[in-house]
Amino acid sequence: MAPIQNIMVPVFMGEGRLEMQERPMPQIKNPDDVLLRVEACGLCGTDLNILAVPPAHKAEVGTVLGHEFIGTVEAVGAGGKYVREGDRVVIAPRLHCNQCRYCRRGLANQCEDYKTLGIHLDGGLAPYVVAPERALYKISRDVALDDAVFAEVLSCVFGGTTRVQVNAGESVVILGAGPVGLLFGMVYRASGAGKIIVTDVAPFRLAVAKQNGADVVINSREQDVEAIVKEESALGADIVVDAVGSLLPQALKLARRGGRIVSFGLQPHALPPVSQYLISRYELTVQGAFGGANHFPGVVQMLESGMIHPSTLITHRVAAANAHEAFNAMRAGETMKVIVTHDEQSR
Ligand SMILES: [Zn+2]
Ligand SMILES: [Zn+2]
Repeated sequence: MAPIQNIMVPVFMGEGRLEMQERPMPQIKNPDDVLLRVEACGLCGTDLNILAVPPAHKAEVGTVLGHEFIGTVEAVGAGGKYVREGDRVVIAPRLHCNQCRYCRRGLANQCEDYKTLGIHLDGGLAPYVVAPERALYKISRDVALDDAVFAEVLSCVFGGTTRVQVNAGESVVILGAGPVGLLFGMVYRASGAGKIIVTDVAPFRLAVAKQNGADVVINSREQDVEAIVKEESALGADIVVDAVGSLLPQALKLARRGGRIVSFGLQPHALPPVSQYLISRYELTVQGAFGGANHFPGVVQMLESGMIHPSTLITHRVAAANAHEAFNAMRAGETMKVIVTHDEQSR
């Protein structure tokens, strides 16, 4: 059991403000509560959207941010069945209600009444956090911490790669070389993809893509994406992933006839003009993908198998007290994945 003490935590205070505050140690209240000692937490574009002014993503004021975290079980509530003190767990932060019309249809990722740890409830930028046991998935300590911390974002990527599966040797074009785009590349590669082509406008991100297994990288600001993709893939890509969220018009032109497109990035206000003709005439499949609660077991299995090592995407590590600086670097496009850890003083 952790000592009773106060902890320092970065709290979302609205209007783009993230404040370090002293809070009491979180306590187990419900039978299914589990107290976790957070080992690491990834920062995400969603956090940036929460901290934007005006906000581009809603969050509860007064909440500790951080929804991509990994921890060790410190204490288990009276109803605990699955995890024990000392277990290492990854956390599915979106807590669906299990009762709404979509939950009852088995579409938990479309839940009408969910709450997310790190957005609506306290999350993993704190050194300790309480989470319900149903959100926890055990993961072996043989998986490096820096790989395991990607479980949450990988679970979202799995939402795309399990719906649009790659066949051995197929070509994949990924639009957007951020962490999500590059994780799509890693998972598709591990699943048997042939040539992987990645586009972006940031040279830094394209360089990281190249180091992480992209066969061809294209700067879409300076090069003719369509011409290069046609040349590299002969007919056009078998699969195109839009990890940006506004590039469907381009994706439709890059896919071969009969190709499949994953629409993954989320930009609520982007309204790109889409050629419906291309979808009909060339029999394209456009698949939307939005996270998913059911992908954690598969993600844990993949990480434990050693098939992918996403830790190569980590470019920055900061203490929770310096999360602000990390967010600034992210805004400036100078980072790939940023990981927050907790030094002993903050515990
Ligand atoms: Zn995230
Ligand atoms: Zn629900």
